Amino acid sequence: MAMTSMTALTGPDPAPSPHVVIVGGGFGGLEVARGLAGQRVRVTIVDRHNFHTFLPLLYQVATAMLEPAEVAYPIRTVFGKADNVRFRHGQVRHVDHERQVVVLGDDTEIAYDHLVIATGATAAFFGIPGASQHAIPLYSLADARRLRNRLLSSLEHADAVADTAPLGLNFVIVGGGPTGVETSGALSELIKTVIKRDGLRLDPTRVRIILVDMAPRLLTPFPEKASAYALKELERMGVEVEFGRSVVEVEEHAIRFADGERLRVAAVIWAAGVTATGTLATDVQADAGPGGRVRVSPSLQILDRPHEWAVGDAAAIPNPDGGYYPQLAPVAMQSGRHVAAQIVRQGEGKPPLPFKFHNKGIMATIGRHAAVATLPKGPTVKGTLGWIAWLGLHLWYLVGFRNKLRVMINWTWRYFDWPSGPRLIVADAETAD
Ligand SMILES: Cc1cc2nc3c(=O)[nH]c(=O)nc-3n(C[C@H](O)[C@H](O)[C@H](O)COP(=O)(O)OP(=O)(O)OC[C@H]3O[C@@H](n4cnc5c(N)ncnc54)[C@H](O)[C@@H]3O)c2cc1C
Repeated sequence: MAMTSMTALTGPDPAPSPHVVIVGGGFGGLEVARGLAGQRVRVTIVDRHNFHTFLPLLYQVATAMLEPAEVAYPIRTVFGKADNVRFRHGQVRHVDHERQVVVLGDDTEIAYDHLVIATGATAAFFGIPGASQHAIPLYSLADARRLRNRLLSSLEHADAVADTAPLGLNFVIVGGGPTGVETSGALSELIKTVIKRDGLRLDPTRVRIILVDMAPRLLTPFPEKASAYALKELERMGVEVEFGRSVVEVEEHAIRFADGERLRVAAVIWAAGVTATGTLATDVQADAGPGGRVRVSPSLQILDRPHEWAVGDAAAIPNPDGGYYPQLAPVAMQSGRHVAAQIVRQGEGKPPLPFKFHNKGIMATIGRHAAVATLPKGPTVKGTLGWIAWLGLHLWYLVGFRNKLRVMINWTWRYFDWPSGPRLIVADAETAD
């Protein structure tokens, strides 16, 4: 084991103990670090962003319900009081397993005794021409801000030309999973608000929000009655839902489907799935696992590398049914906690234990008053009750007390009224993206 750090980390080493390098400060990486805070190890979290992003609420930033700072939290601040946890801002480009170092974008090397890959996933465009250039995914704070700028700019443009060309506006959301459903519902509410409260000159009947999916129903991981409920709610909000539709090309202002239809669009929102291909996960093994994920043992060790681990979306974590656990926040958090515990066990000379996932259910919200929550073996909770459960859970897991408080106040306020969300285009008119 390499016991010396090659980093230029500032300050004295807290203790001459093994160095754990965690790449990624998302849901999984933060839990590894939390589990190791105060233990006899030195921990360095490396992330290309200096903040943790609460991805499940990005759609609310994109649709001007929340500010970016309300869903992000500085990683340094999370561990400000933990003497043995440090943060390094940077992008890990490569892992040299033989020398036990990670190499950053600026060629800095950080030596490790234990390595944890917690780099998450990214949007999957499935090689569809034009999709990665012209569709807007929702995977980072920058994506959310870009999408918000695009949505609000499209509405401003419609108002600007209202006298000369009463244009229609089409917004297409690709993917009927939780992100697509949540974004469609929120977009419908945003547009109604902007017309009603902000005096936007746009005939609401000329705006189309179209949610397309290849599958025959929405929210496929949920029971059918939850899918039916989500469909009914979205249609009630004016969203057109089209099943069995596959996208073959995305252009700058248009989308083309396999049946030959070409539709002019103001924006294409890409919520069609995730992949780890192209992320650091595909660099750590010659033979990547499904979806580009790192193959790990039941105890989450990278195969043949007992001191290297992978958690969360970056890892293909085997489940007892012979498949893999889904790329969801609870899996990331629980796998992170598990790895922290196994690193401590290894330090005590004990063998690692297999990971056991405790499924607490899944949920998705549809607009401001409705949600579906499916418990593991229990019922599906719908409507306002589901929505309250959704609110409570997201507030609970949001990082930072200030963020929890601000989001709670904003949600409460906007439940009763929607007077002044952060509907700001933070870009010049010429470069509205
Ligand atoms: C829009 C959206 C909505 C979602 N909604 C839900 C939901 O409602 N419920 C649910 O359970 N799950 C949801 N998910 C999934 C959930 O967010 C993920 O499963 C979870 O974030 C995975 O955690 P992670 O730690 O593996 O990765 P992430 O949270 O993605 O964190 C990865 C971190 O690694 C960093 N990183 C990546 N590569 C590098 C590198 N090379 N060098 C340095 N840093 C790097 C990134 O900056 C990031 O901070 C949603 C995901 C998205 C995108």
